Amino acid sequence: MSPIPISYFETLRPEMLAQLAAFVSIESPSLDKPALDRMGAALRASLQPLGAQVRIDEQAETGNNIVAAWPGANGSTQGGFVIMCHFDTVHPVGMLAENPVRMADGLMYGPGIIDMKGSLTQVLFALRALREQQRWPAWPVTLLLTSDEEVGSNSSRPLITSLGSAAGLVLCMEPALPDGALKTARKGIGGFTVTAHGRAAHAGADHANGVNAIAEMARQVLALQGLTDYPRGTTVSTGIVRGGTRSNVVPDECTVEVDFRVETEAEGARVTAAVNGLQPQLKGARLEVSGGLERPPMPRSSAIGAAFERARRIAQALQLELREGSTGGGSDANLVAPYGVAILDGLGPLGGGAHTRTEALRVEQFAPRVALLAAILSEWDGG
Ligand SMILES: [Zn+2]
Repeated sequence: MSPIPISYFETLRPEMLAQLAAFVSIESPSLDKPALDRMGAALRASLQPLGAQVRIDEQAETGNNIVAAWPGANGSTQGGFVIMCHFDTVHPVGMLAENPVRMADGLMYGPGIIDMKGSLTQVLFALRALREQQRWPAWPVTLLLTSDEEVGSNSSRPLITSLGSAAGLVLCMEPALPDGALKTARKGIGGFTVTAHGRAAHAGADHANGVNAIAEMARQVLALQGLTDYPRGTTVSTGIVRGGTRSNVVPDECTVEVDFRVETEAEGARVTAAVNGLQPQLKGARLEVSGGLERPPMPRSSAIGAAFERARRIAQALQLELREGSTGGGSDANLVAPYGVAILDGLGPLGGGAHTRTEALRVEQFAPRVALLAAILSEWDGG
């Protein structure tokens, strides 16, 4: 059978954009439990008509995670499609007043509109269409809605890895690359906090007795930056430095926060060993290191390459040209990648400016993207 055409979803455009505006209007920053649970309640209400088996993963600190499952033709909810979405955003409550939902030049703006309120809307309308058009897949479908992706997915990690590792196909609904390409490789991401301890002293009267922690850290910053290896795709960036109390006091403490990205586990191990092995350069100084690799790299495995090729052919049936690319950004797909399962990542909407005040969705490209998701679900296991 051929997939549900893009034209079907074009007729739903006003309704889809209204749903999207409603989701963006429920601000849901990471770590704001009341706000996240309001968003979770709205999502559960939207799932109600779709007949899902909904399970709530209660959390004390962050929003409750939600698992919606539809058994497959075999009656089981195990395996099959696992659709991964997060409903937290990086935008604090109140941002909506400064950056309201609005349209301009074919773009729809608003906090979290592509990352990932647009994806949530896309999933709901794709599933609804499959149901209404009797094209629901034979495979089990599981929709995982998590509340803490933008802060490292700590509460949701057990669900992501247990559901993702058992999946026949993981659909990660992160925004697409700017031209709509899927993300078939992602770098691994980690971070370190490095603290230099020195000895405080009067900056004028007792300078020689001080051990200047900032001066120590200045040397360490250069060592850290020097771990960058562009040909291997490794970047190390010292992003935040804090130290000192007053200019007339020799500082006894300085802390730097470091972001690093790697394409391979081996590079992750090299950087981690090097940072843990940093040696103080000033007499009397001491270093303290914590952190490491937080999301493993997602290299373009054969399973990911094959999944992309299959998706590309399904897209062709909709007259869509699907491309692939890679990114230095991480997603929850990174957490599933080590299990070697098939993953399609970057299936979300087209747009730009994620995490900024110019975050915007390309309105013309939205219905095709909903159609693409519906087509992958309806055409995948039927062959
Ligand atoms: Zn995201």
